[in-house]
Amino acid sequence: MTKQNSSRTAAIVGAGQTGVTAALGLLDAGFEVTVYSDRDQRALRDDVPATGTALEFGEAQGAESALGLDTFVDRAPRHSGLSVRIAGPESAELIAFDGNFDGYVGLAVDTRLKADERLTRFQERGGRFVVQSVTPETLDPIAAANDLTLVATGRGGLADLFEIDPVRTVYAEPQRRLLTVTVTGLGYGPEVFAHRSLDGGAHSGFSILAEQGEAWWGPYLHKDAGPSWAFLGWARPGSDWEKRFAAADSAESAHRIVQDLYRDFVDWDLPEVLATQVISEDPHSWLKGAVRPVVRTGVGATAGGHLVAALGDTAVAYDPIAGQGAQSGLIQAQRLVAAAATHEGQFDREWLETRYAEFLGARSDAASRVTRLFLSDPEFGDIGNRFFPAATVDPQFASALVGLLHRPQPFLDIASTDAADAYIQHVTGQEAAGLLSQFQPAGRFERSRFEAVA
Ligand SMILES: Cc1cc2nc3c(=O)[nH]c(=O)nc-3n(C[C@H](O)[C@H](O)[C@H](O)COP(=O)(O)OP(=O)(O)OC[C@H]3O[C@@H](n4cnc5c(N)ncnc54)[C@H](O)[C@@H]3O)c2cc1C
Repeated sequence: MTKQNSSRTAAIVGAGQTGVTAALGLLDAGFEVTVYSDRDQRALRDDVPATGTALEFGEAQGAESALGLDTFVDRAPRHSGLSVRIAGPESAELIAFDGNFDGYVGLAVDTRLKADERLTRFQERGGRFVVQSVTPETLDPIAAANDLTLVATGRGGLADLFEIDPVRTVYAEPQRRLLTVTVTGLGYGPEVFAHRSLDGGAHSGFSILAEQGEAWWGPYLHKDAGPSWAFLGWARPGSDWEKRFAAADSAESAHRIVQDLYRDFVDWDLPEVLATQVISEDPHSWLKGAVRPVVRTGVGATAGGHLVAALGDTAVAYDPIAGQGAQSGLIQAQRLVAAAATHEGQFDREWLETRYAEFLGARSDAASRVTRLFLSDPEFGDIGNRFFPAATVDPQFASALVGLLHRPQPFLDIASTDAADAYIQHVTGQEAAGLLSQFQPAGRFERSRFEAVA
């Protein structure tokens, strides 16, 4: 017999931003929902770093809005574009373009703040919050007692309950070492990063150094400091940057390492970087590590044979170079909630696997491919060698290229240089070879003349 929505129960393990987003959504859809978390609410907010920068664009914000949730668009500084610089071997300054976000904005909100607010709202509306570190053994009775059990414990946690998909998982190890730190001291006016674009501090800045890695600065909403800036760096294996990142052991040292890095390698942006200051009230405002991009099968079973579904980073972990992880998790959560709200039967294996396959097809497969493009994966080298110069020549293509961070789907079918050329022509109206023949290497990037106000 079909159960009524009001009597259905759901358990979510993990109170990161993906888990609490799904929990609130299911609660609003009439489920009785319990969230299990290995930390209490205060510790989730104040004792850990943010999981990542979590920059999101229009499609992911649309998923949050569809669940009736605040996207923070009225509180977070808005990104209106991405300004790219690429230096090749021997530091040759090659590519400079500025892509405007076309019809959407980027927002990077502290995952701790977002999860905290949603968790408060969840409990105010009658959701049950249980502080318990769930193990595979204790998950069994939880899954037995609930109609739907979602595991959103991040990349570690209970992820091993879900097998790795060997076809979709292409890397045996992380492709970069990461360092991130959030800082204050810089506004968002046109005078900030003015040498990069007319939009100045409203555009995030991304620099790619072929021999070292990648470095990004973008406006951020920090849980304590409010509007601020985040740095995120990627070091290639064996690079000098990798050694520098490894030395970080505090917010202060991470900040110093980033300033030295800009002095030594990315001097076109140095004055802005030197104007930034550490967020003294948050000792967890930095993070280092690495992410192996992994796609798991979305459905697992406990020892007693009860089904559980993977959500967020537990299901798919992305290197953050194309900003896909948080976006993917939120979209997956929204799709799952929308489907569960109208589903009248049991949440059996077929239902769970079909929803997961739909999510992979609708977002995740494309997001993984765009991540590989931005990681300069050799498999996409010839495509990248067309796309980045094309973006330099044509502003519409620059917008389309950075737009893949918002909607990666167009890249799903681009698997050859012919397909890449056809996409360039589709976006610009110009034949790709002709357009690319106009490309001229930058020679020397414009340097910042920013003067910090004392
Ligand atoms: C450096 C970096 C930068 C990033 N930048 C971006 C970006 O710009 N854009 C973007 O979209 N994505 C980005 N990401 C990815 C994004 O941050 C993550 O995808 C997202 O925050 C993951 O959220 P989650 O809720 O799935 O997992 P998590 O935030 O990891 O939450 C999991 C929760 O489960 C809890 N937990 C773990 N084990 C258990 C257990 N056994 N029992 C109970 N609870 C448990 C944990 O304590 C945690 O609270 C970035 C990631 C990194 C590392």
